[in-house]
Amino acid sequence: MQEFFDEGERIGVLTTQPLDRVLDYRACSGGCRVGAFVEVPLGPRKVLGVVWGPGAGDFDAAKLRPVIRVLDAPLMRDEMRLFLERAGAYTLTPLSAMLRLATRAPGLGDGPSMRKVYRRGTSEPDRMTDARRRVLAASEDLGGLALTLKELAEAAGVTSSVVKGLVGSGAIVEEESPRDTPFPRLDPAYGGKTLTEDQAAAAAVLCEGLRQGVYGTTLLKGVTGSGKTEVYLEAVAEALRQGRQALVLLPEIALSGEFLQRLEARFGARPAEWHSGVTMTERRRVWRMVGEGHAQVVVGARSALFLPFQNLGLIVVDEEHDTSYKQEEGVLYNARDMAVLRASIVGAQVVLASATPSLESWVNADLGKYKRLILTSRFGAAVLPEMKPIDMRGQELASNRWISPRLAASVKLRMERDEQALLFINRRGYAPVTLCRACGQQIGCDHCDARMVEHRFLKRLVCHQCGESKPMPEVCPSCEVEGKLAAVGPGVERLAEEAGELFPDARIAVLSSDLYGTARELKAHIESIAAGGADIIIGTQLVAKGHNFPNLTLVGVIDADLGLQGSDLRAAERTFQLMRQVAGRAGRAEKPGQALLQTYQPEHPVIRGILAGDEEAFWRAEADERRIGGMPPFGRLAAIILSGPEPQELFDIGNQLARNDAPLRKIDAQVYGPAPAPIARVRGRHRVRMLVRGPKEVMLQQALVAWTRQVKLRGETRLAIDIDPQSFF
Ligand code: ADP
Ligand code: ZN
Repeated sequence: MQEFFDEGERIGVLTTQPLDRVLDYRACSGGCRVGAFVEVPLGPRKVLGVVWGPGAGDFDAAKLRPVIRVLDAPLMRDEMRLFLERAGAYTLTPLSAMLRLATRAPGLGDGPSMRKVYRRGTSEPDRMTDARRRVLAASEDLGGLALTLKELAEAAGVTSSVVKGLVGSGAIVEEESPRDTPFPRLDPAYGGKTLTEDQAAAAAVLCEGLRQGVYGTTLLKGVTGSGKTEVYLEAVAEALRQGRQALVLLPEIALSGEFLQRLEARFGARPAEWHSGVTMTERRRVWRMVGEGHAQVVVGARSALFLPFQNLGLIVVDEEHDTSYKQEEGVLYNARDMAVLRASIVGAQVVLASATPSLESWVNADLGKYKRLILTSRFGAAVLPEMKPIDMRGQELASNRWISPRLAASVKLRMERDEQALLFINRRGYAPVTLCRACGQQIGCDHCDARMVEHRFLKRLVCHQCGESKPMPEVCPSCEVEGKLAAVGPGVERLAEEAGELFPDARIAVLSSDLYGTARELKAHIESIAAGGADIIIGTQLVAKGHNFPNLTLVGVIDADLGLQGSDLRAAERTFQLMRQVAGRAGRAEKPGQALLQTYQPEHPVIRGILAGDEEAFWRAEADERRIGGMPPFGRLAAIILSGPEPQELFDIGNQLARNDAPLRKIDAQVYGPAPAPIARVRGRHRVRMLVRGPKEVMLQQALVAWTRQVKLRGETRLAIDIDPQSFF
């Protein structure tokens, strides 16, 4: 294929505008290379684009407009274009939307921007003061290293005007320096630990895979605390030794504080960080340095997959089963699956790490598509917590109380021993339902088919679907009777209240994602709790994810049955994973832990599977059920979500699609629905769902396109296709 186009030649440019096609332009003066980032005119605007190849030639040559300029950014590599095309084709996403994912850094085309820095000059100041002396000393201490005005002033403990005053005499020199500085080199030999025999064997397999320089995926399974992280960091070290880049994906940014320190301890410097909490300036720097090869390791959220790596050798997907890897808005992609796709294109290795792998990965390993490595024991003295049910049918509980006497007694024991206890409930807020005792009405959201959740810390009712909130009313919105509104059911806040009454002397900390303004505040809070800043932790799902609480020895699950309700295909799998993860928080250090699960159905197969700790048996049973039903991973699923202002119109379209299912029948796929979505109205829009199920051997995408193309959507009506749906809301 032609790689370079001279001035005036016809080229195809993909823009980030929602047009779903590559547009023709003329190459500008100096010519254009395939993969170059360019600025092109589109109507009256200038927009960002990438030279995708030769023009299609279907546009009047006389009207072709030239590219405005080629931007000063590294070329987009062929492999990245291929990745965007394949990922777009798999998720049925327009290429322009894929390109937006790959260009999420501000000022991409601005070229290297500069900032002023200050360092020690050769002359002495005309007049010396104490403050001035401190500045010169601070500057000399740094051995010629240049700092920004603010940094130097802070280091010397003076105001910035003192530094400025020294510039005139040449005692301090002011210089321009590029803003986007390379990340410090990481040293693979810096802080490695001596691995146990198990760990060393697993690490050797991963390193060998890297040395072969071809694609491969390995499932690294091991209980929490078994050293999975230590093992995959050895693979990162191997990538570094080979001069290749590594990406470590984490499900939750709250994880990365502790995690980054750990990487710094291992490699002697901090790697690059990429997630929504990173500043715009830093994003720009990371994007550029990754593209120039000056960032060797990136720790990031799922969108880091779309960074312009130059020489990617390894992708680690930590907690690979985590549902947050599936992006549920905009481009509907699963980062775990896209990591495998990206690696297969560039010949990189993938490590999927988890204590409780997804059924998909477990089956792929069983089929031999993935290698499987298992770490069986916890590192050091730590042992897995003992797990026991508390049969709630035999416990005396007052109304509006959720902590059973048996659980309370166990918590008390920990308090006496100065250990920590965690009470887990997967519900944010104070109470999930607010009921009027006069008229029986529950307060719902005005825009969604969802109940408003009381958040007492905020003194508001919040809709967990759309985020809408309103002050807690004094009178019932339906019958206007005063003082009859009652909270029904528990959330973390209410549980904290109960714990406070039961244990008045305990220091209680609530960990719930909505209680912290920023990820940084949350991180700081978690770190202080881990350091002993609380006796009882009341937490939601947030605590299940990989944080270390060394002094925690008891986990009490308030409602182990909660996740088993509902019609979700993955309800059992999720409950199993969540319970195991939460239980894994206990006994991380030297003290053995215990997990107590409050349940009304201790004989339920999922609860029994959790308690027995017999994962293989649980997975086999779950896999059998899915196999019989032709469900993933033994079949393929796609969800169709119709949304719009008029429910009747949505059902009409759905029924029309259901009747005209020839394109689906051709590939042996069936369609189910239309049915109202479990949450039938979100943000004022009605939602209707259909499900398509097909055999494993065929790809659904083309048939889905041919099938949905048969209907015309009008006005505000939308049709979205979710390939491999994870959630069924
Ligand atoms: P996982 O990722 O499986 O939860 P980690 O890798 O985080 O496990 O290990 C749990 C704890 O044990 C960590 O504090 C880790 O530093 C420590 N650890 C694991 N393996 C070793 C080892 N070989 N030498 C020293 N410490 C280790
Ligand atoms: Zn709402």
